[in-house]
Amino acid sequence: MSTIEMAEPTKSDSPKSPNADAAPEPSLATLAVHAGEARQKPGDSITDPVFCASTYTFENTQAVIDFIEKDQPREEYGRYGSPGIRIAEKKLAALEAGEDAVVYSSGMAAFVGLLMAKLKSGDEVIFFDECYHRSREFCAKHLARFGVVTRQVKACDYDAMAAAIAPNTKMLISESPTNPHMSCVDLDRFVEIGVSHGVETLIDATLATPYNLRPIPAGVDYVMHSATKYLGGHNDLLAGVVVGTQEKLEPVRKLRGIMGAINGPQNIYLLLRGLKTFELRMQRHNANGLQVAQFLENHPRVERVYYPGLESHPYHEVAKRTMRGFGGLVTFLVKDADWRATGDVIDAVKIPRIAPSLGGVESLIEQPLVMSYYQCTQAERDQFGIPDNMIRMSCGIESGDDLVADLAQALG
Ligand SMILES: *Cc1c(COP(=O)(O)O)cnc(C)c1O
Repeated sequence: MSTIEMAEPTKSDSPKSPNADAAPEPSLATLAVHAGEARQKPGDSITDPVFCASTYTFENTQAVIDFIEKDQPREEYGRYGSPGIRIAEKKLAALEAGEDAVVYSSGMAAFVGLLMAKLKSGDEVIFFDECYHRSREFCAKHLARFGVVTRQVKACDYDAMAAAIAPNTKMLISESPTNPHMSCVDLDRFVEIGVSHGVETLIDATLATPYNLRPIPAGVDYVMHSATKYLGGHNDLLAGVVVGTQEKLEPVRKLRGIMGAINGPQNIYLLLRGLKTFELRMQRHNANGLQVAQFLENHPRVERVYYPGLESHPYHEVAKRTMRGFGGLVTFLVKDADWRATGDVIDAVKIPRIAPSLGGVESLIEQPLVMSYYQCTQAERDQFGIPDNMIRMSCGIESGDDLVADLAQALG
């Protein structure tokens, strides 16, 4: 069974093939459908089967020895991988123009797995402070227990990040865009700091996806995603992934085999199925995000909109220069509203469902104050920039006109 390698990793500085007759590189849409998959599959099926197996058999003793000695690419035991995971890893690496990928049971498992594999006591990491609160919590509370020092600097303050680098700094971390403020990292500047100080870089590009942002060609060492969001895309699974070079990911993959943060076959089937429509979905998410953001910006009951596709956004220039689209997440503040009046707007919408998460086909809406930040103190919410009148909406793939009409009636 031969696997078509749809995409060799493309290095941003590698010259184009001199062979003018060579087939053009497949687009993301084609990669999303075909990359990582064999042309002829078991049972001659068009889709890959769901292998429900905790272990994999060997024909005889010699086959076991050959597997170990020759490092053969086959399955061994379910905690180390599965045929479906291999396909998902090849497909996701191709979409990111990376060499290799390691898929996990969730986005947080990917983040924790990468940092635990790469850091040791005495090391330091620096991250931009606008980030997923569980990532911050893992760094501040848990890495600290293992003697890893984490430093937070203001998001997109490159001078502060460079100044915070010490001889034992091992990784620079950021999301882009950030959640929920949608600040966008200038990847060239971020990478330059890492390269000039010999420190590795990690971008959590969950909100951007490889459709909107290309961190690996920009020189970032590791890209991670909560594949629970846009990559899976249907609000029906949890998954995570880290993309990078095979060499850099080898210890990461080995630790995953020990942690057991492996995804199950049904989930992986859903992920592969969701990825088939990745490009179509992203185009609609981008269009709906922009339409909703533009509508909200002109609404008299809206104080402020955070969406990098708007000229009013502080990172619009960076976003325009580095992103293909701006995604489906729109954050806004309701003018002169306390927490209750803000909740009333959320309770009045009919299409978006009230839930955490983002990136699925169904639009979701939430008030960060009562969803993710309810347990925080007022001082912490002030520090994280979460006012009472903030609403975060993840635009799904419904009709943009319907979403706008729904928000219009909810805002009154
Ligand atoms: C959701 C999310 C995560 C965590 O991913 P899970 O799949 O929920 O574990 C990490 N980073 C960002 C930016 C996210 O939105």
